Amino acid sequence: MSSIPPVEAEPRFASLDRFCSVGRTVEILSDAWSFLVLRECFFGARRFEAFQSVLKLPRNTLVKRLHKLTELGLLRKVSYSASASRFEYRLTEQGRDLYPIMLALLKFGNTWLSEGQPLPLELIHKGCGKTCSPVVACSDCNQPVDPHDVQYRNGPGAGSQPHATERTRSRRASDPDILERVRPCLVARSLKIIGDRWSFLLIREMFFGVRRFDEFQANLGIASNILTDRLQRLTEHGIIEKRQYQARPDRYEYRFTEKGRDLYGSMIVMMRWGDKWLSRGKPPLVLRHRQCQQDFFARVVCSECGEELDPRHVEYALHYTLADLAQ
Ligand SMILES: [Zn+2]
Ligand SMILES: [Zn+2]
Repeated sequence: MSSIPPVEAEPRFASLDRFCSVGRTVEILSDAWSFLVLRECFFGARRFEAFQSVLKLPRNTLVKRLHKLTELGLLRKVSYSASASRFEYRLTEQGRDLYPIMLALLKFGNTWLSEGQPLPLELIHKGCGKTCSPVVACSDCNQPVDPHDVQYRNGPGAGSQPHATERTRSRRASDPDILERVRPCLVARSLKIIGDRWSFLLIREMFFGVRRFDEFQANLGIASNILTDRLQRLTEHGIIEKRQYQARPDRYEYRFTEKGRDLYGSMIVMMRWGDKWLSRGKPPLVLRHRQCQQDFFARVVCSECGEELDPRHVEYALHYTLADLAQ
């Protein structure tokens, strides 16, 4: 891909946050409990008891998450009995639109994180009747998107803002280790890598062409010990690798591995969701596909028939049982 230069630092601010639809999206999904509730929605859960029986989370936590997801506009409460006191939660259009993100993360997990084990979940596309895998494709020509084939330019919502102070940042997300309880889940395993705010921001900066320690620091306003820790973690996960680019004094930069570069699909699918639902019609960034020479957004399509995957037209073959996991 053709990298765009880092945001020009304005002298007034030591560092800047990019306006970024991906970041806004990941803020929502990086809360582990919220993610788990949404995932169960895609498996068909609607009622409080259904969420509770699968997730086995404290009642109060579940109440709070359902409330939060409703406030965010991802779920809506629908009364299902005449008494109006019995209600269930259904995905709104905005919530259902998170499905391609789940699928893109699933694809990444299936490709890189299954550790040689059989995949716990297979998708069957009702549209074509075949077992399929999700493919991130161009909205215009429907071909798979490779990061090398994408050019960027600023959109109407481009810009940046001074870093939020710690006080205004969202609170620390819940423990990522809960992500895989109940179900073995490759989406959750992908989120464990990128769902951490700083790790995610580092990956994003790298897709913008940022490679060096001091550039990360300048762009993100991240403390150097946290930066060191996250770079280390991403290296251990095999997402990035450290390369020397200068000797005496020795200097290093970070490059994506093949695995790391493969996160691109998930990134642009998250960006699409943020652009559609959170940017008020002003996307910060416009993508152009070199192959078809058109501006595009990312869609997730069936590997077998090329049709966009809609949660209402996908069935699942589960190669595990929930009972096994409840032990
Ligand atoms: Zn295209
Ligand atoms: Zn299909």
